[in-house]
Order: sequence, then structure tokens, then C-alpha cells
Amino acid sequence: MQSDEIRKRFLAFFEKRGHAVLPSASLVPENDPSVLFTTAGMQPLVPYLLGEKHPAGTRLVNVQKCVRTQDINEVGDKTHDTFFEMLGNWSLGDYFKKEAIEWSWQLMTDAAEGFGLDPRRLYVTVFEGDENAPRDEEAAAIWKSIGVPENRIYFLPASKNWWQAGDNGPCGPDTEMYYDITGAGLGDMTLDEFKAADDAQKVVEIWNDVFMQFLKKDGKVVDKLAKQNVDTGAGLERFAMVLQKVDSIFETDLFADIMAAIHGEKKHDDVRAERIVADHVRTAVFMLADGVRPSNTDRGYILRRLIRRAVRFASKLGMKEGAIGRVAHAVVRKYSIVYENVGLEEVEIHGALTQEETKFTATLERGLKEFEHLAMNGAISAHEAFILFSSYGFPIEVTKELALEKGISIDEAGFGLEFKKHQDLSRSGAEQKFRGGLADSSEQTTKYHTATHMLGAALREVLGESVQQRGSNITAERLRFDFSFDRKMTDEEKQRTEEIVNEAIASDFPVSYEEMSVEDAKKLGAIGVFGEKYADVVKVYRIGDAAAPYSLEICGGPHVIHTGVLGHFKITKEEAVAQGVRRIKAVLE
Ligand code: ATP
Ligand code: MG
Repeated sequence: MQSDEIRKRFLAFFEKRGHAVLPSASLVPENDPSVLFTTAGMQPLVPYLLGEKHPAGTRLVNVQKCVRTQDINEVGDKTHDTFFEMLGNWSLGDYFKKEAIEWSWQLMTDAAEGFGLDPRRLYVTVFEGDENAPRDEEAAAIWKSIGVPENRIYFLPASKNWWQAGDNGPCGPDTEMYYDITGAGLGDMTLDEFKAADDAQKVVEIWNDVFMQFLKKDGKVVDKLAKQNVDTGAGLERFAMVLQKVDSIFETDLFADIMAAIHGEKKHDDVRAERIVADHVRTAVFMLADGVRPSNTDRGYILRRLIRRAVRFASKLGMKEGAIGRVAHAVVRKYSIVYENVGLEEVEIHGALTQEETKFTATLERGLKEFEHLAMNGAISAHEAFILFSSYGFPIEVTKELALEKGISIDEAGFGLEFKKHQDLSRSGAEQKFRGGLADSSEQTTKYHTATHMLGAALREVLGESVQQRGSNITAERLRFDFSFDRKMTDEEKQRTEEIVNEAIASDFPVSYEEMSVEDAKKLGAIGVFGEKYADVVKVYRIGDAAAPYSLEICGGPHVIHTGVLGHFKITKEEAVAQGVRRIKAVLE
């Protein structure tokens, strides 16, 4: 079964069972500065899992683009990518374990409506219980009632089968489904045999159903949740792998043309290098399509590192310059029908990729020579690693891998400190430039970010304190701000909002921040989405003076230093996006 059909069947199966189909959210979280990329289907749904009402109802389903750069070292094995699509269904206080498990099983095994997987190759795990919560006998009993033999239901500890987002908030046990990908079939296995098969990637985790059942406070379960949720996630690549009976995600139809582009050019055999190139270029294409551009900080730096690592492995494979662009072309061809922006942004994507590739190729060769030279004394110091970064553009992973290949040590922690100093410096450099009024695109984005806070404050003044931010999306060209409000704004209201923002710009308010606990931020009256997705210590940005601030907001920044640099604020559009949610688009002129 091809990947297109897998997506279609997953969505149709749950749609038929009353689920509203949601589009994939951007890889760049809209309203959550605490995370760089969307890592799971549940992430854009956090406010609703915490109790807010979702406009589409209590049963949701979607296919969500995800990036997990924390899995980067696994890339090269059979089952991990840094980008993947997660198939997910949710119950927001609606159905619970029984339906979730029965539907998972039905979808996996039913050939007509679902995927027709062989039940004799499926294994499941459930939570074994600990001081916080009981053994999940309930989930195990449901699996048994469906016909899963008792000896294929494994009880595992919290490290494997417990979900929580932090020490405070909803949490609960999960149940995971594994598929045997060996030709002969593994048959019945003891717990130890199962664990060994998992380590050897003979069984592959394909789906995970999380049951948000309890409430944690300060690391301890204190209560049951009044409203229990189900959050499931299944990897499209992994379903494609088991359904297409291939040995890795890189042999599925999703990667066929991408791998072919690599195979057509490579001079040497190195399966891991091929997979890294395929994976990283694919991830880079999706990041670029969602507006990320290579840079030396935050998201942009993650993208840069992925591209550079791909360039280095392409060169290791003997591929010629321009290879990254050619592989990217195969990615765009495969995905542009499903993800429109990938096709629409192709020229931009290709331009950004080749520019980065050319830049790095120019220094790679010389950097490798320098590395050889530095490696002669048997270790790479923090300073040397930093020179490789600053003069030759070597991300630390690349230097680390080279050191590993050579069997020499490297002072990674020391590099981290030097790198942080460098980042702080380049940030304050950018801030310096503000004062001179020079604006490059990232500075423009920063201005829009500050303008977004100002707009939020103005809207609360004009429409009332009940106005809450529901999302925001900022580019160098405009800001987009979604907020709760149940009718169209009048022309007067829009005009008044613009006036308030422009007056605040004209007042040239200072912008500053302080770090404090979420509790203190609340006490101070800072706005933000109060839930447990914030870290213990948050930044509170203040616009205006301490005595009578114009705006106080929990936010990761960055912001301009004073509002006078923003220019003239103008609302270009006000429209509905969902019931009770309005959207404003605005520009700085
Ligand atoms: P693993 O232990 O294999 O890394 P996980 O426990 O991190 O998986 P979850 O967080 O439960 O995975 O994600 C739900 C599903 O998403 C998994 O069952 C799997 O099918 C898929 N998935 C997770 N990480 C990746 C990845 N890096 N590449 C491809 N698919 C993935
Ligand atoms: Mg994982």
C-alpha cells in the first residue's frame, strides 16, 4: 500500500467514526516560543488537551508534519528520520481506552477499511505500574478481549510506557504497538526476547496510544483528570515500511525517488551516509517550505547544521557539487501534491539550499585539511573546534563525527561555551544595528514580533480583557494574529486599535525583559497561555516603563529595544478563522 493510500485510509477511518479532519500545522509552532519545531501531532493541540474547547469538536484526526532533531543520531538505522509525518487521532474528554484500542486494532488489521496487517506479527506493550499510578490492567484486558494473546502483551515501566509533559499537568499510561518485520516471523516471545528483538529492530514500534488520565503536581500524581483525553501517534514512514514489506523507511515509496537521485550520483557505497543525505535534505526542504532560513541562531542554525551535515555526507559519497539541490528536487516532486507549499516555494527552497551548499562546499575541503592538521596532536580542543566552526563553517556534529572516525577526543562542552559567547555577541550585534536603523530580514521579523505584543495589548483595550491570543505567525513581510472574539470588528474599532499601537510606537517605549517563575509572572499580570508547557523560569517582556507598562507578556523573544523603530502600523485584514476566533493581518510601513 502506497503512502498516499495510508494517509487517506487513516483519515477516512476516523472521519467515519465522528472525527473532524484537521490540516497539518506548520513545523514552526505558531504560539509557543519554548519549542523550536513541532515534534508531535499533539503539540499544536496542547491548549485543547488542557481543557480549552476545540472549535471542531471532541474527536479530531490529522496527519502532522514533525521534526525531531533529537533523533539525529538514530538517522541511518531502519526507523528514524529527523522529519516524519505523524498520523494521529484524539479524544478530548470523549471516548477513552476501549474505543481507542479497538479502533487502533481494527485499523491495523482490517484489510477492507484499514491496513490488513498480520495479527500474528503484532505485539503490544502496556504500563506496569509504579508509585504514581496502577498497572494498566484495563488496557491489557481490552487487548485480550480483542484477541491479542496474553503472552504478547508486555508490561513495561514508566520510562517506556508513561507520558507526561513535565512535572505539572496531565499525564498517563500509554500502550504501544509493535510489528515484526522479519521474514520468518518471530512467533511467541518472552519479555526478554521481545526487548532483544526491539533493540535489534526486528520489531518496530508503529503506533502509540496515550491515555491522559491523571494530574501531576510537583512530580507526583495527585488526582484523576475530570476530562480524560486520548492522544495517539503513528508514523507514516513506519506504516509504509511494514505495509510495503521493506527493511527500512528509506526503501518505502516515500523515499524511492530521493534514494534514486542519490544512487544515480554516488561513487562509493555507504548506506548510512545515503540515508543521512536523504533524511536531512528532506527535512531541510520542509523547514524551508515553512519559512525557516539558514542562520546562526535557533531554528535557522538547526537548518544550517542539517544542510551542512548533508553536504559533508554527500561529499563522502563522492557526489558532485549541486547534489543537495538535485536531491531536493526529488523531495519536492514527491511531496508537492500533498503539501502545497513545498511546490509553491520550490524556487525559494532550491535557492536557499544551493546557496548554503555552495558556501559550505567552498570551505569544506580546506576545513578538512585543517582538521587533519589539528588532529595530529590527538585531540581537538574547544578553541580548535570553534575555529573549525567560525572559519570553515563546521557545525560541531561534523567535527565530532570526524573526530570519532579518527578515534580522537574533542572538547564538546568547551565548544558549547565558546559558541554561546559567540551567539550572544552576534545577537547584541544585531541589536546594535537597530539603533542605526539598518534592517535585514531577521530584524524586520523582530519588529513584527514586538508589534504583535503591542497589537494584543491594543485589542484588549478596544475589545475588552477577554480577548486572548489564539495564534500568531510572523514573517519579514507581515504579522498575523489570531485572537478570541466572536464578531467582526467595526471600522471604528480597527481604527482605534491602529491608533493605540501607533501612539505607543510614537512614545518610543523601552522594551525589556525579566526572568521569573510562572507564578510571579501571573502575579505581575503578564499574559500568556498558562499551562505546563512553560519552563519553570520564563521571560516576561515588558513594553513601556515599570510603573505603568503598556504590555507584559510571557515570551521567548527576541524583541526590539525600543518601539520607536517600528514605523507605521497598519491593519490590512480582519477576518474569521474559526468560530469565535478572528484573525488580523498587519504590516509596518
Ligand atoms: P522510538 O522509540 O522508535 O524513537 P518514540 O517512542 O519516540 O519512538 P512516539 O513519540 O511515541 O515515538 O511517536 C509516535 C510514533 O511516531 C511512533 O510510534 C513512530 O511510529 C513514529 N516516530 C517517532 N519518532 C520517529 C522518527 N524519528 N522517525 C520516524 N517515525 C517516528
Ligand atoms: Mg523516539
